[in-house]
Amino acid sequence: MREPTDGDKLLDLFLLRTKEPEYAVDMPFYTTGSIVAAALMRVAILGFASIILSQWLDSTKVWWIAMVSLWAIGILPAWLQYQRFHEKVEEIADGTLCGACKHFNATNQLCMILDEHVTNEHPPCEGEAWEPRS
Ligand code: SF4
Repeated sequence: MREPTDGDKLLDLFLLRTKEPEYAVDMPFYTTGSIVAAALMRVAILGFASIILSQWLDSTKVWWIAMVSLWAIGILPAWLQYQRFHEKVEEIADGTLCGACKHFNATNQLCMILDEHVTNEHPPCEGEAWEPRS
């Protein structure tokens, strides 16, 4: 498994990916919290950039640039990432032992008794703590 480069870390900071990188194996790459936090960060930076741009461009151009970039960089990636997060949770819920266990919390892909993220078909407890959903 390759280590993330500085460029990868920058992309990950602003969550500018719409697919998980191959080094994201131990933790869920997308969570609702990380998606919302990164989207707010991107929107704040775009707002700041729009204020700076308004010093040189007329307000109509700044408004259009702000609206298009808000959609393309702020909202669209968050929407695509949420779709990916939802697909991943469904894959785990439908196709793994953890998905059928009462200790699995689908909202954050977490085993509630081990406090560990479930990222693939191998249950972190090796099946020993599995209990059926009631
Ligand atoms: S107790 Fe075991 S099977 Fe159940 S969610 Fe946790 S790791 Fe998965």
